[in-house]
Parts: sequence; structure tokens; C-alpha cells
Amino acid sequence: MFDALSDRLSGIFESIRGKGRLTDADIDATAREIRLALLEADVALPVVKTFIHQIKERCKGAEVSKALNPAQQIIKVVNEELIAILGGETRRLNYAKQAPTVIMLAGLQGAGKTTLAGKLAKWLKSDEHSPLLVAADLQRPNAVGQLQVLAERAGVAVYAPEPGSGVGDPVKVATDSIEEARRKGHDVVIVDTAGRLGIDEEMMQQAREIRAAVNPDEVLFVIDAMIGQDAVNTAEAFRDGVGITGVVLSKLDGDARGGAALSVRHVTGQPIMFASTGEKLEDFDVFHPDRMASRILG
Ligand code: GDP
Repeated sequence: MFDALSDRLSGIFESIRGKGRLTDADIDATAREIRLALLEADVALPVVKTFIHQIKERCKGAEVSKALNPAQQIIKVVNEELIAILGGETRRLNYAKQAPTVIMLAGLQGAGKTTLAGKLAKWLKSDEHSPLLVAADLQRPNAVGQLQVLAERAGVAVYAPEPGSGVGDPVKVATDSIEEARRKGHDVVIVDTAGRLGIDEEMMQQAREIRAAVNPDEVLFVIDAMIGQDAVNTAEAFRDGVGITGVVLSKLDGDARGGAALSVRHVTGQPIMFASTGEKLEDFDVFHPDRMASRILG
């Protein structure tokens, strides 16, 4: 991801590297190039506009440093603005004052929710927590089985309806799981919920009901970074329809252009909290805007 954008940006910076001084016309031309590069990377238009406005304002403004040459100054500003659109500070998980902390996962089918549930559980376990994975996705055939396999691999407990028990109500499974966590001393509950292939009122309604029933400390929206701007529109729909407190980018290892990752924070107003970079449980980390910006700038 971001390879094409990184290449484009380094080409742009290369072309101004030798200049001793940048005129306003040079800055405008550079900003135009950066704008095109962002649009080609499929970054949402309002994000591009804000970004370019900031670059122009700051590069033409008084922030002239004697220690940096013009190209270095532009790179510094672009770096800072990239960090800003990615959310600035790293946003940590909100833990409940009184355990268990409840984390609800939402998103479309195939976004990577169930995989993420396993990754998050493993990560929490390595950080001295005792997570309980909850299979409240009763829609997708085998989602329960998949979560059980992931739980075993991560070495964490899972709460799922018994096969053939007739429990088909995800709201009840989610509610009961909180009791189970209290009984067994789990301090974090991760509730995997059902997605659909597209935005669907029934799915939204179910997610709202689960949310109301378990009163989560975090509602994390899992977004497939491979599907570009569509993913960002979906995130907005979930923000408005269910309410989300953070975003997880999945499939950042793919070769998509990266526009979703660069747009989602600005468009939804919600922080990106984690990043998923592969199918294995270890392919997961806290999202750091500054590290991502450095990666993009190469
Ligand atoms: P869900 O329907 O949202 O629960 O999605 P799943 O967790 O079942 O994931 C859908 C597919 O994407 C599976 O084949 C996963 O192995 C794969 N997947 C999930 N996360 C990642 C990731 O970060 N990178 C890659 N390459 N594949 C992923």
C-alpha cells in the first residue's frame, strides 16, 4: 500500500531539491502536483482540499527555517499535515473503570472483523489482559467456528452459543457474555457482530440493539482498506447508524492505493486505532499516525 503515492511524492520533492529559494509560483506548482498524487491515490476530495490548503498556507507563510532548504521545508510541512489527517496523536483504547471493558466490532462482511477479533485478543493477552471473545455474528455460516479456531490459536477464551442449542439471538449472546466475563474474571470482552455485503438496515438495527444491550466502551469499525473510498462511505454510514468510537484499518498489506486509509479519519472524525497487515494473528499493531506518515514519505 502507498507505494505509488510514495513514488510520486519523492519525484515531486526531487524536482525542487536543487532550488535555493521557492517562489509562490513554485509552491503553487508543487501543491498542484501533490494534489494530483493524492487524487490518484484515491484520497477523498474534501481531504485533498484541506490538505493542499494547509500546505500552501504554511509554505507561503512565515514558517521559514534557516536550517532547512526549500525542499526540506516542504517535506516537513507535508509530513506534519499527513500526521494531522491521519489523526495526530496515537489514540489508545479506553478501558472501563470497572471491568469488564466491552469492545464491540462492526463492519461489512469480509472486512476482516473476525480475524481482527482474534488479533486484538492476542494483543490484549500479551499485555496482561484476560480477554473473552464473543461470537455474536450468527449470520455468516461458520463465523462462530472461525472465531473458535482463532481463539484457540490466540490462547484465549471464547463465548459462543452451543451448536444446536437454538440460541439464535446475537443480542442475548452478547448480553450473556458480559455475565460470563464477570463470572470467569475476564477484564475485556470483544464482541464480534454480523456484517453484510453492503449497507443494510437490518444489520444496522441489529448492531444498534447489541450496542444498546452491552453499552460498549469502544465500538470499533473495521474497514477493508483495499476497497478505497467506498469503505469510507460505509464508515460514515456506521458512524451515523450505529455510532462508532474508532476505526481499524484492515488489509493494509494489500496493493491498493491507500486513499481509504488517508481519508477515513478526516471524513468520519473518528480516530484510527489499529492496523491489520495480514492474515496471521501477529499481523496487527496499534496505529501510529507519525509512523504511517514516515512510511508514506519513504
Ligand atoms: P469478517 O467477515 O469481517 O469477519 O471478515 P474475516 O475476518 O472473515 O476476513 C475476511 C478475509 O480477509 C479472510 O480471508 C481473512 O483471512 C482476510 N483478512 C483479514 N484481515 C486481513 C489483513 O489484514 N490482510 C489480509 N491480506 N487479509 C486479511
